[in-house]
Amino acid sequence: MDLAGTPRFRYALLLREIDDMWTAEDFRSVGLVLIRLAGLEAVNANFGYIGGDRALEEFEQRLLAVARQRDRVFRVGSTSFALLIHNPTNEGHAVLGAERISREAREPVLLGARRARLQAHMGVSLLPELAGGTEELLRHCELALDESRDRDEPYIVYSDGLAAGSAGHARADFDIHEALDKAELEMYFQPKVHLGSRELAGAEALIRWNSPRDGVQLPEAFLPGVERGWAIHALFGFSLNAALRQACDWCQKVPEFVMAVNMSPGNLEDPYLIDTVTDALGVWNLDADRLVLEITETALMRDPRASAAKLQALHELGVRIAIDDFGTGHASLAYLRDLPADELKIDRSFITQMLTSDRDRRIVASIIQLAHAVNMQVVAEGIEDGDAAQVLQDMGCEIGQGYFFNRPLSAGNFATAWLREREAAEAGADA
Ligand code: C2E
Ligand code: MG
Ligand code: MG
Repeated sequence: MDLAGTPRFRYALLLREIDDMWTAEDFRSVGLVLIRLAGLEAVNANFGYIGGDRALEEFEQRLLAVARQRDRVFRVGSTSFALLIHNPTNEGHAVLGAERISREAREPVLLGARRARLQAHMGVSLLPELAGGTEELLRHCELALDESRDRDEPYIVYSDGLAAGSAGHARADFDIHEALDKAELEMYFQPKVHLGSRELAGAEALIRWNSPRDGVQLPEAFLPGVERGWAIHALFGFSLNAALRQACDWCQKVPEFVMAVNMSPGNLEDPYLIDTVTDALGVWNLDADRLVLEITETALMRDPRASAAKLQALHELGVRIAIDDFGTGHASLAYLRDLPADELKIDRSFITQMLTSDRDRRIVASIIQLAHAVNMQVVAEGIEDGDAAQVLQDMGCEIGQGYFFNRPLSAGNFATAWLREREAAEAGADA
């Protein structure tokens, strides 16, 4: 197909296209320019969301104009694009493309009588000159793009030094595709309990990696690497579907059961987030209000307006929204009031300190009051003993979660610990 027309969506299509170019008979080289626009927040603030959309559309058109006949343009996120350069003559060719894109992005967009400006950051790499394969090419570009944002330079061409600098973030031996292919990822489930009745309210799904070398790995060992890149969409798809698959079963046993799934900041930027969630609910035949999506307060505050709009769209599906690790970010009362959130999860650090620190106890009490004032249910995370559970119950906190009730458990162990007991009790009551 020719380059004219609409850009294509999604990384999967981008990867497929790179593979197609690579295996074509006339293949010599593929150049990839990954682009992220900055400044949209200011355009939205000054010109409204319609103005923001117009500025993005205009940029898209300019990008299509930079592309040659057999190059391809993709939109891979709400403010992210990719230009795939077919058979570039050398690295300079790709750099020239990045230079032109940078100029086009800086060129003001006319919105009515006024001018709006965006800025592009870019990561550039080439296959086979710099990268050895399709996914490596994409990873290179992401690293280079991060670097271009950190240094606030319009574009960075990948070099080995960038890879060395980023290796400290996560285990280098974790590869999400390999982990998915080899079924090494698994969801664990931690119960959420009604503090009043101590009955099961639901569970939070927490991801684990069964490393063939070192056994079960916590998310902190591998999430940071994934969160920097496009793989976070694949991870969310896995977590969501694995969690809903269990919820589909457990909701039959506990009709009011609610399953919570964590989102990373990058997931909010996925233009297909709503489709992904709708599809998963459909596949597992669950009502939307059986699902809670958790997003941290800090993630929301990265781009408060855009986050609020995304949460609104999710909320309109009927999905419940929880603000995770509350108390560690800087959300204002006004922001909270307007957010379509149903649940506030008080960060573990306050709960841990609460029994020994008067100050933390007062903070917890006021978070509970604040949440109730804006009609949110409160969940306390990290309850490690009965005293904390009692104090929280007395303060009016509805739901508790923590080692006191159970550590995160495999699906089988969760069912044994929390559902068999209930089944047995129900069978007893029926008899
Ligand atoms: P989170 O969402 O705040 O999850 C709660 C974390 O606190 C879990 O750690 C849980 O094991 C731990 N925890 C629960 N109760 C207690 C307690 O009483 N004491 C202590 N000390 N810790 C407790 P975990 O499983 O290591 O997860 C860490 C974070 O990784 C999660 O924090 C969440 O932000 C992220 N995460 C986990 N699974 C996923 C996932 O599937 N997708 C995404 N995007 N993020 C995930
Ligand atoms: Mg959570
Ligand atoms: Mg949390």
